[in-house]
Amino acid sequence: MKLLAAAALLAALVPAAPFGQSAPSASTGPSARPGHESRGDDCARPPASAEARHRTDGHPRDRMDLSPAEAAAVEARLNRILDGLGQGGHGPGKGRHGASESASLRRAAQISIPVYFHVIHAGAKGNVSSAMIQRQISTMNTSYGGGNGGANARVSFTLKAVSRTDNAAWFGDPERYEGTYKPRLHKGDKSSLNLYSTYIGGDLLGWSTFPWKYKSEPQMDGVTIHYASMPGGSIENFNKGFSATHEVGHWLGLYHTFQDGCSGEGDRVADTPAERDPTNGCPSSKDTCPTPGEDPVHNYMDYSYDTCMTSFTPGQGTRIHNVWTAYRA
Ligand SMILES: [Zn+2]
Repeated sequence: MKLLAAAALLAALVPAAPFGQSAPSASTGPSARPGHESRGDDCARPPASAEARHRTDGHPRDRMDLSPAEAAAVEARLNRILDGLGQGGHGPGKGRHGASESASLRRAAQISIPVYFHVIHAGAKGNVSSAMIQRQISTMNTSYGGGNGGANARVSFTLKAVSRTDNAAWFGDPERYEGTYKPRLHKGDKSSLNLYSTYIGGDLLGWSTFPWKYKSEPQMDGVTIHYASMPGGSIENFNKGFSATHEVGHWLGLYHTFQDGCSGEGDRVADTPAERDPTNGCPSSKDTCPTPGEDPVHNYMDYSYDTCMTSFTPGQGTRIHNVWTAYRA
């Protein structure tokens, strides 16, 4: 993917969006789109709001990164809510493996999520077929059910309705028009997934909102994906539908596996080894942090090729259920 030097410079200057909210927020305009990440996770660098962004040679997928301070604030609030609900003791920290993760996940009630799928297209462009939409939902069910490997996260999706909007402007720049199309198309409540397919320029494959943003911006809640990332789409190496799996992971409260890099509590999941950088492609192995464990290159919450992604961990499943209890139940 080609990167523009001027936009890259801009990307290096704009601060990270508060709480890593959706990419197209006011603080990161479309001009900041090319493959640069606000990672805030470099082991050698102290956290800073204008954290340098790093070029990734692969697909950046999204910009759903939080600075360590932002993640810490989110976690403190999440833990307060869970404590208030009598759901304390919510999982061990990074590196302190919880043997009980699998057991507690098996005890968790299945989360069944109705999906409102919104096709934004420009004439024939992006007007994905009903069969493709069904394949996307099916891919999400397989991913979250552990069907490709890893844990059964006990989350499932049912297609509730499909809307189709022929709008060349929205299709051409969904970041710019996010505040227009979302309130008009959004359906359901905090436990409904609104999934928008459209064209996304630059290197991005999608973006999401985090569950803790629902209360203040309910109409903006949801996930936007590049239509060509859907199963059978045209984006090479990223057309198995795992962009939706990945973005829905954020919608369910998961961070990137490289959140906070090698330091701190990482992605707040004990059984995903710490990872300094996003993974590009599909390396046979990669180990970027001194702490035990190789990088989780096959995890849906990394940036690897779709062809490389196979799994969530029990810890991620447990986190999804905790976050669901706090924010979407
Ligand atoms: Zn992401």
